[in-house]
Formats: sequence, C-alpha cells, structure tokens
Amino acid sequence: MEISQGFICQIEYSLTLKRNGIDCFHLEHEDSYLLAVPEKDYEESSRIFHILNLESSVLTLPDHLKSGSWRVILLGTGPSTAIPSIKCITQQRKNCICDNSIQSPLNKRLNPSIVLSRIKPGVDGGEGEVEFNLLVDVCKTFREAALAFFLPNGIKNIDAIILTHQHADAVGGLDEIREVQARGSSTPIYADELTENSIKMTHPYLFPKSGSVSQLYVGSLVPHLFSPFQPFTILDMEITPIPLWHGPSLCMGFSFHVLDSSTQFIYFSDFKNRSTQEEKDFPPPDAYGRVIPLVLPEDYSNFTLFVDKEASLQILRKWDISLMILDCLGWEFGPISHAVYPEVVQLIHAFHKEGLIPKQIYFTGMGCVLDYTVLAKKLREEFGGEEGRAPVMPGYDGLKFWL
Ligand SMILES: [Zn+2]
Ligand SMILES: [Zn+2]
Repeated sequence: MEISQGFICQIEYSLTLKRNGIDCFHLEHEDSYLLAVPEKDYEESSRIFHILNLESSVLTLPDHLKSGSWRVILLGTGPSTAIPSIKCITQQRKNCICDNSIQSPLNKRLNPSIVLSRIKPGVDGGEGEVEFNLLVDVCKTFREAALAFFLPNGIKNIDAIILTHQHADAVGGLDEIREVQARGSSTPIYADELTENSIKMTHPYLFPKSGSVSQLYVGSLVPHLFSPFQPFTILDMEITPIPLWHGPSLCMGFSFHVLDSSTQFIYFSDFKNRSTQEEKDFPPPDAYGRVIPLVLPEDYSNFTLFVDKEASLQILRKWDISLMILDCLGWEFGPISHAVYPEVVQLIHAFHKEGLIPKQIYFTGMGCVLDYTVLAKKLREEFGGEEGRAPVMPGYDGLKFWL
C-alpha cells in the first residue's frame, strides 16, 4: 500500500513506539523525524506531534494485517475522575498536570477502557473494514472517548461488551450504549456475578424481560456470566478472566489470546494487593484518625494482587505476553484501591523473576500527579533497554496496537 501523505514532525515528548512487538524505535525530545501517515490517521497523529512540514513517503503494511487481525485502542488511561479533574480546575490546583492537560494530549486522560476490533483483510492486501468491536468497560467518559476515537478508527457499533467490575468508572456510561447499537438489537455483555447483579440493579431498563427489545429509545443488553479462570471465546478471541484484589473490592483482569497464535495480551486495569489479616483486624489510624487498611508494598514480590496466585501465574505462563497493561495511580503509597509506582515497579520485577517478560508494558489508570514526560523518563531509567527487562511506558488515550 503506497501512501503519499507524510510529514516532518518534531517530537513533543520522548516516546518509544512498538508495533506488534517487532518494529521499535525511540524518539527523543526535540528530535525531528519524517513520518508516513495514512490520511485517516493524520488527525490522531497531529494530536501528539507538532507538525512542521509536509513531505511524502511510503508505508508498507505488516504481513499479519493481510489475513485479518485484532487491533486494540486504549480509549482511556486516567483515574476515576479523569484528567483534567473538575476539582483541580475549579480549585486552581498548581502541583498537578490538570491545568496543562488541556493543551497537552498525552496528559489528558479518560477513565480506563479499551476497544478490541477485528479488522477484515482489505481487497488490496491493506487494512480492511472493521468487522467486530469488543468494548472493555463502558466508563463515565465513554461518550467523550467514542466521539474522539470511533469515527477516525472506523468504529460504528459495539458488538459485545466485557466488564472488569461494577465501579462507576467502569459502568457509568452504560446508558450511552444505545448510541452504538442498531435500533431493535441487543448487545451481549459479559461480566462476573457481582458485576452483573450490580448493573441489573443500577440499570434495570437495559435488561428487557425474556429477551424482548424495548420500543423506547433505550439500550438493550443480554447478560452472559463468566467465572474466574474459565475461558470463553468471542469470534477467534479466547478470553480468560483473572480475578484481582482491588482494595476492599475485586476487579477482573483478562488474558486475550487469539486462537492459533502463540501470544496473549494481559489487561489489569484496577488492582491493589490485599492487606494481611492482622492489618485488616488492627489497621492503624492515619494522620486524620481514619482507620484505613494498611497495604505493604513488599507484598507485590509475592503477587498478592492475585486472588489465586498459582492459577493466575499458570495463565500468564501459557503463552508469551506480547503486551501488558497495568494500573498505576500515583507516585506514593496511600490509595487503598490502586497500585502506585513503587508497587507496580516491584510487581514488574517479580514477573521478570518468574521469567514473564512481556514484549511491552504500558500503564493505565494514571492520576494527575503523573506527568507523561516525567514518568516516561523514570521508566526508561528503571527498565530501559536491559536484557531480561520488559520495556515499560505510560499509555496514552488513543494509543493503538495490533495483536
Ligand atoms: Zn489534578
Ligand atoms: Zn474500580
């Protein structure tokens, strides 16, 4: 496929780009490169790069795309408030990225969510039409994510939904699902028992009785229950739920494995390790006298984020990990429901010790204390380029990769 569109761009942020674990190049701040960009990707690319000049170039599509493939887009990589946070803007907070995120796309973050799309082979051997879209979580910010990323990526409908858990930042956009389903149709929604019961209570009108579709202008969902560690299949995608501790609650992580392939993609959007029984029974009061369960960072070396360590590691060992997405809310200890930088770093080193070295790791769920550039630099210092260590980078909204 020949493309005559391209541009010289100057990199606003240092960035490592990796596609399908093969093509990898590193861009330093203020370096200039010639990029070949298909016209339809131009808008998305210009969100990230400063465009200086228009040139021409040739781009060849990778072989795996020619036989149909799965594409993943990160629809959101931020915390439950999203970034910018209302509070930080109204209170004119200065020691976070909220103010700067309005101009800086890599620091503007919606609630964590991804969409996996199966792409048909194109007639000319190039990228064809989107044939199926699988959405993971329907966030409070679903509307904003859909408006930003669906049209430029050929996504018109959502064909199936998977939920990680029942929190508002994972299910708060469910009402909008009517906008991405054909009128009169129902969308299968996969969830565990706790989450399914919860959304049936909060959104009863989305579950019409005996499969009938409401004549009102509302969405229609058909529930499908899954169980921890029991794989289920959607088209040629095998999905295995891996339960994770999420502070006092639970969240489902997932392994996505395309049948007949040798790799998997791991998505752990919300996790925190569980405190020990003693800490649970006698949690020390914090500076304000509040009793909050204490969570020790060193627990991560023993994979205490997993509800069942051995069963979870068994899945992670089953296929090579082409890509892993991990929760990382902030720099310092404190949050009881989300892991923070030292904990996630410890967890990644624990994976390495087990011989689990993903080809690429990205962070999601990043709070407004985490500036993209600062975090990327720190991660390069911690993991950059050494044998036996996975490359780790902050994710950003709209980031795309192929499975
Ligand atoms: Zn903020
Ligand atoms: Zn949550």
